[in-house]
Amino acid sequence: SLTAGIVGLPNVGKSTLFNAITKAGAEMANYPFATINPNVGMVEVPDKRLDRIQELIPAKKVVPTTFEFTDIAGIVKGASKGEGLGNKFLENIRQVDAIVHVVRAFDDDNITHVTNKVDPVADIDTINLELSLADLDAVTKRIGKVTRATKGSEEAQAELDVLNKIKPVLEAGGAVREIDFDEEEQKIVKGLFLLTSKPVLYVANISEDSMSDPEADHYFQAVQKYANDHNAEAIGIAAESEEEIAELDDADKQEFLEAAGVEEPGLDKLIQAAYKLLNLETFFTAGGKETRAWTFLKGTKAPQAAGIIHSDFERGFIRAEVMAFSDLDKLGSEAAVKEAGKLRVEGKDYVMQDGDIVNFRFNV
Ligand code: GDP
Repeated sequence: SLTAGIVGLPNVGKSTLFNAITKAGAEMANYPFATINPNVGMVEVPDKRLDRIQELIPAKKVVPTTFEFTDIAGIVKGASKGEGLGNKFLENIRQVDAIVHVVRAFDDDNITHVTNKVDPVADIDTINLELSLADLDAVTKRIGKVTRATKGSEEAQAELDVLNKIKPVLEAGGAVREIDFDEEEQKIVKGLFLLTSKPVLYVANISEDSMSDPEADHYFQAVQKYANDHNAEAIGIAAESEEEIAELDDADKQEFLEAAGVEEPGLDKLIQAAYKLLNLETFFTAGGKETRAWTFLKGTKAPQAAGIIHSDFERGFIRAEVMAFSDLDKLGSEAAVKEAGKLRVEGKDYVMQDGDIVNFRFNV
C-alpha cells in the first residue's frame, strides 16, 4: 500500500507527531492483530460519510479504511554526500510515495534548535537542498549512461531531453515537482524515481496557542507561502497537543477540542491531506455484515477496484452496481436512489469515482 514518509531536521517534533499517529492507530478497534513495523504507523482515515451510510443502510459494523505513515529517522546536513546516516536516509525516502516534511514552528527556549534559530523556511531549504543534490547526482549519472546508449534511439533521446530539462533546475537547488511536463515527459520522469518529484506536504509544528487558528500563526504563514510558491501543500499542527489528544477517549477528545477551540484533530487534517496528496480516493461497500471504506488510486477501473476487496472479485468480475454517496445522502434511502434511476450498472471500463457505493457482481 502507499505510504507517506515523515522527514525533518532533528528536534522539530517528528517523533512527537509519529507517536500521535501510533497512539491514534493503537485505538483502532478493527485491526487488533495488525502487526506492523515499528517505523510504520497505521491510522484510520476519518470519513463522515461512513456514519451517514450506516444511518441509511445499517450494517453490523463499520470499518474505515486505513493509511500508513513511515517514520524516516536521521536527516543530517550533508546527507547527499553520504555523511552519517545520509545514504540510508535518502534510500528510505526513495521507498515512500509522498513526503510529509515537518518543520519547527514553535518557540521554546528549552528545546534546542539545530541551527539555534526558529526559521521553518530555512529548515525546509536545508533538507530540500540535500534532496536536490541527491537527485542531481542521479540525473548526472543517468545522462552519462543514456548519452552512450542514444545512437539514434528515439526513446533514449526522449529521456535525454527530459534529463536535460531537469538538470538545471536541480543545479539551482530546485525540485522536479516544480517543473511542468507534458504527459509523455511525465511517464519518463516517473521512471526516474527522483526524490524531489515525490509530492510533498509541509507540516508546520505550531505552538498550542496557535492551534485554534493556524492561519494566523506567522511561522505557518511563511510555510504556507513557501508551499504555494513551490507546488506543494502545507498544514499547521501542534504535535505535542495532538499526542495528548490521541490518547483520549472520544468524550474527552471532544471536550479537549472544544476547550482548544478546534473542530477536528489536526491529525485528521494531516491524514486527509496526505491521502489527497497521494491521489487516493474512497469507495464504499454498504450494508449486511459490514459497511466499509476502501482506498483506491484515482483512475482505477471497476474490476481492479473489486480486486482490492478480493482477488476473486477481480478475476470473476461481471459488473458493478453503483450509486454515488451524494445521491444516497440527498435522497435518503437505497430505494429512493433506485426509484430516481440513480442506481447505475457499470462494466469493466468504468472508472471509479470517489464516494461510489458499490455492489460488485462476480462469478466464483
Ligand atoms: P524530532 O527530533 O524531530 O523527532 O523531535 P521530537 O519529537 O523528539 O521533539 C523534540 C522536542 O521538542 C521534544 O522535547 C518535544 O517534547 C518537543 N516538542 C515537540 N513538539 C512540540 C510543540 O509543539 N511545542 C513544544 N513546546 N515542544 C514540542
